[in-house]
Amino acid sequence: MKKFDPGKNYEITRKAIGYVDRKEAKLKDYKRIGFKSGLEVHQQLKTKSKLFCRCPAGIYHDHEDYNAELIRHMRPTLSELGVYDGTALMEFKTKKEIRYRINNQTACTYEVDDTPPFPIDRLALEIALEITILSKLNVVGEVHITRKQYLDGSIPTGFQRTAILGVEGELQLKNKKVRLIQLSIEEDSCREISDIGHVRVFKTDRLGMPLIETVTTRIWKRLMSWLRLLNISVSLTEVQVKYVPE
Ligand SMILES: [Zn+2]
Repeated sequence: MKKFDPGKNYEITRKAIGYVDRKEAKLKDYKRIGFKSGLEVHQQLKTKSKLFCRCPAGIYHDHEDYNAELIRHMRPTLSELGVYDGTALMEFKTKKEIRYRINNQTACTYEVDDTPPFPIDRLALEIALEITILSKLNVVGEVHITRKQYLDGSIPTGFQRTAILGVEGELQLKNKKVRLIQLSIEEDSCREISDIGHVRVFKTDRLGMPLIETVTTRIWKRLMSWLRLLNISVSLTEVQVKYVPE
């Protein structure tokens, strides 16, 4: 029996599909393969309060304008399944010291993980639901707040509170239908000031601000502008917009 040569097979397959090394790829190669990518579109919501505490949203401070500094070291813990997350272990190996610069005006004990969350901000939820409906997503029957792991220190808890509000949307443009995977409401993370050596510094002014995240299937530029327009119009002016796709 002829011995199978995986190396040779790899070379033959690469040749058959017209493989081009990324460093040598030109625009014509991307056009030929029809590069496609989905997107996450983020938009902060203009509310009075943050999403899970009652600190004001939308107030920003200079790097040096802070009342206290808090230091943390992120440590990996065992999951419910009794295993360590590989990425958490990798982040731990960087031995980063995380410093948070806190201003009394924009942060409370919730932001620094010392108080449980308050009920979700109703206005933020309302705005996000309006955008969900305008994006023709199927609104969920119940809103479940879950946790997304954050390992870079930009959220002191180590996770981001997030909730899916709508799934499987469809936007009808003039000649195409475009699918949206989901829309979530979530809290924003800290803003990074610096990351030098083993010290990473954040400020907490933006931490906890309401944010929506729209996830698309493969997308092209025109839809991206449409989504930005829809999100910005509703979230910043709180006025319903009528937009007729081209
Ligand atoms: Zn707060």
